Amino acid sequence: MRLPPENLDGYTLLLLGKDCRISLTDEKFVRYDTQNHRLYLPQANAKTRLVKWLKENAKRILTGVTQTKAQEMGVSFKSVTVTSAKTRWGSCSAENAVRYSFRLLYAPKEVIEYVVVHELSHVRHKNHSPRFWAEVATYCPAWKTHRDWLKRHGILMEIF
Ligand SMILES: [Zn+2]
Repeated sequence: MRLPPENLDGYTLLLLGKDCRISLTDEKFVRYDTQNHRLYLPQANAKTRLVKWLKENAKRILTGVTQTKAQEMGVSFKSVTVTSAKTRWGSCSAENAVRYSFRLLYAPKEVIEYVVVHELSHVRHKNHSPRFWAEVATYCPAWKTHRDWLKRHGILMEIF
């Protein structure tokens, strides 16, 4: 994994944990070829278009996973917001407003699910007490592996 160059053509981005090669095109819209994991970006404002696309998809995917996990865990939350925060993958406010960095979209699905379970466990436990971690473990038994993945891939926070 390396930081993106000025010209994004040929750059390989991690998307849901899989390598995704970027090509710049003359097309008008961002196009994602799910089968071949290729992302086609319009030449003009490629980076701006990509970040917008990442944020939209992060919002859609993270909202879906949060709704599913909240139901499973029997908790309710106020809202889901996707931010550009570079210091944390997610957070949960006192009012249970959940926030995620759009860069979570780079991580594999299981890692995303861990962050969602982590934030939703804060609905009942506003701390990182043993009881909090016990709840995380109930809904995400492999949480340690996923947390380690995020620690090892801290560089992803620097991308865009
Ligand atoms: Zn936490």
